[in-house]
Amino acid sequence: MPEGPEIRRAADRLAKILVGRPLERVTFAFTHLKHYEPELTAAQVLDVRTRGKAMLIHFGCGKVIYAHNQLYGRWYLCKKGRPPQTRRQLRLALETATDSALLYSASDITVLADHGLAEHPFLARAGPDLLTDDPSAKDIADRLSAPTFRRRQLAMLLLDQSFVAGLGNYLRSEVLFAAGLHPELKGVDLSRPEALKLARAIRRLTQRSYQTGGITNDLKTAARLKARGLPRRAYRHYVFSRAGEPCFACGECIVRENHAGRRLYRCPHCQPASARSRNAP
Ligand SMILES: [Zn+2]
Repeated sequence: MPEGPEIRRAADRLAKILVGRPLERVTFAFTHLKHYEPELTAAQVLDVRTRGKAMLIHFGCGKVIYAHNQLYGRWYLCKKGRPPQTRRQLRLALETATDSALLYSASDITVLADHGLAEHPFLARAGPDLLTDDPSAKDIADRLSAPTFRRRQLAMLLLDQSFVAGLGNYLRSEVLFAAGLHPELKGVDLSRPEALKLARAIRRLTQRSYQTGGITNDLKTAARLKARGLPRRAYRHYVFSRAGEPCFACGECIVRENHAGRRLYRCPHCQPASARSRNAP
């Protein structure tokens, strides 16, 4: 399932074929959006932004297409007139003289005014996007200690898009490992240096995954393992999907657990359970 880095990469690909190029056609499958087609076709795409899994296509006329991929939406980019072989339902098409950006299956699509974005229910709730808004480590550490977030387990908090937008399930395990933290710890349990370490891990691993197309492991380790002929799944992550394999840092067996209804991977030595809720009364 795509997380922030994958959505941001899709947004970059969209921007590359759409920004500044005259549009020949904008088509919505939903009848209640059809009346926007002429205005958007005549306008230029200025920018493609993301907020977690939401894509925001900004037009010169002051309108924005909001498309949330949810679990099943999928963008296909192709040369004009050469749509992909798929049985999915086409929901939105943006076409230039040479290229098409086609969104299939997504149902959460709407058109908003630039100045009305803050009132949209998802956008009003979503925290800063790690790749589009690029919050600093200090900003993230401050959010971690804010009253709304500080008493929630990190395993829950890191999946909550209102904390920061863009983390998903594989990044959650990877970030906690990189910060050396047990998933049941809360913001309130962390010292300021630990909160900053976690905040830096959130930024670093999201950016690394975005730049490398999904690798979160230390890049030297990944390159060394790749050179040995190991498959991508063996070197892609520190701990995610590596249950029973040795930790790259200490050699202990990685374990798989369930937190907030989703699978989580952890090194029992680098992220010990004994460190859980240590500052609790
Ligand atoms: Zn370890």
